[in-house]
Amino acid sequence: MQIVECRGKLFMIDCGEGAQIQLRRSSIAFERLGHIFISHLHGDHCFGLIGLISTFGLLGRKAPLHIHAAKELKPMLEAQLTMFFNYDIGYQVQFYPVDTTKKAIVYEDHSLTIESIPLEHRMPCCGYLISEKPTLPHIRRDMIDMYGIPISQINNIKAGHGYTLPDGTEIPHERLVTPPHPTRSYAYCSDTRFMPNLHESIKNVSTLYHESTYADDRLDSAEKYYHSTARQAATVALNANAGKLLLGHYSARYSDETILLNEARKIFKNSFLTSEMDVFDV
Ligand SMILES: [Zn+2]
Ligand SMILES: [Zn+2]
Repeated sequence: MQIVECRGKLFMIDCGEGAQIQLRRSSIAFERLGHIFISHLHGDHCFGLIGLISTFGLLGRKAPLHIHAAKELKPMLEAQLTMFFNYDIGYQVQFYPVDTTKKAIVYEDHSLTIESIPLEHRMPCCGYLISEKPTLPHIRRDMIDMYGIPISQINNIKAGHGYTLPDGTEIPHERLVTPPHPTRSYAYCSDTRFMPNLHESIKNVSTLYHESTYADDRLDSAEKYYHSTARQAATVALNANAGKLLLGHYSARYSDETILLNEARKIFKNSFLTSEMDVFDV
């Protein structure tokens, strides 16, 4: 399970067993969580869903919860909702099928888009790319005051226009604003075997989470089970020109994951291990 926060909204990606316990242990205000995106239907990515839905009901949630996943999840989810709750959990659970074979926008609001990224795993699977939309430039209060520009012109200037003074002098847009914050993006890629062209879908991503189930000593297992090694994850990060790489989804055979980190850092320096409850800035 991962929680991504962007401009006050929370998005959850995947929901393994115990997600509701982790969520309650964290300080996250989960009433702000409206959308959950599931990569694929292996248990470690979705078994926590019904527990989470139930917990939200017990906590008195009223806002609808939107679940995005491969269409195969829908009948299972509906059966569980009917069997355990007779559909009476106090709020609406809304399901949206995701076509895991396509790169497409699956969610959009005024501040960001979320796209599916097709991955190659033992069953239909996709990652998600969350991209902030550009914000408007910031108005320079000092310039507005200096030129005596009326408030009615502020939106015009934010939208890219300059201003003409009463004497006909043109003040260019650039002098009246400072540039907006650079936009950030986050790609979640798990589970997948190494995809040599994956970087094309996530070019210049600020932060990439890519599974690294194995080190290169188990390249054969990675290939067999459609997982990746840390070196392969780092190769994707390098080719994508990512800002940062987060590793995760380690095989239980590694008691010390430093071997994975070292392997990744040989290829892509800005690599980090992740574990439960970690928090990263994108
Ligand atoms: Zn899997
Ligand atoms: Zn998995």
